[in-house]
Amino acid sequence: IATLAGLAVVGVIALVVHRSIRNLMLRLNKLEAMRSDFVANVSHEVKTPVSAIKAAVETIQADPAMPREDAERFTKIIARQADRLSAIVDDLLSLARIEQHAGEIYAELQSEPVVSVIEAACETCQAHAQEKKITLNHSCDPALKAPINAPLLEQATVNLIVNAIKYSSEGTTVEVCARPRGREVLIEVTDEGRGIEPEHLPRLFERFYRTDKARSRALGGTGLGLSIVKHVAEAHGGRVSVESEVGRGSMFCIHLLADDPTAK
Ligand code: ADP
Repeated sequence: IATLAGLAVVGVIALVVHRSIRNLMLRLNKLEAMRSDFVANVSHEVKTPVSAIKAAVETIQADPAMPREDAERFTKIIARQADRLSAIVDDLLSLARIEQHAGEIYAELQSEPVVSVIEAACETCQAHAQEKKITLNHSCDPALKAPINAPLLEQATVNLIVNAIKYSSEGTTVEVCARPRGREVLIEVTDEGRGIEPEHLPRLFERFYRTDKARSRALGGTGLGLSIVKHVAEAHGGRVSVESEVGRGSMFCIHLLADDPTAK
């Protein structure tokens, strides 16, 4: 009986080990697939502006007698695509930095007034909003504090406001509001823009995911803005969420942890 019981225990252990190894392999395969997807996406995103630059340069070179206006048109294309490349590289570097240092960022959070972040982000976006005749409002209790990394949170808030402006029509309003809710502090950016179809919502925060690639590129987007927002929120121990209705607008929210009232 003792031998039988021993065999059964060994059998169960073997089964558990086998299952764990299989799960590990599945997770590794998934990670590898995500990694190669990411590399493929980066290559594709970088190749597009590089091809456009090459084509414009070749066209100029092929026609030494090209009229000045045509040459200027091609130079503008080159400048725009170079800006695009530089925006992609900046966003990729930001993402990599936040991902690599998420632990340190979390450990070094300081309880600071959230209002300064909201005000700074709105100030950065004000000219852009005015250009598009969009009213940019903000509200936040000056006494509201939370453990934050102010520069990163400002970058994330700017990304949300830039999107809200980008995907809204002239004459609409964008609201930025920070408020406490239970054990969280919420930063909400609400627009009256075109909204997002429900099937896109679960994938919106993935790198390079766009509901309309051509439109996003035409508007100067890198497809990385929301992914940066998500990483910033997670480095704060928080998360992101979105609610949207097609034709009515969207609300993106950064959920931060509130100050721990029992600390110190
Ligand atoms: P992009 O650089 O393309 O704006 P993001 O990561 O910032 O990349 O956003 C991903 C996609 O989510 C966008 O391409 C757009 O389709 C959608 N999106 C983001 N914010 C909004 C918004 N406020 N209203 C409508 N669609 C949005």
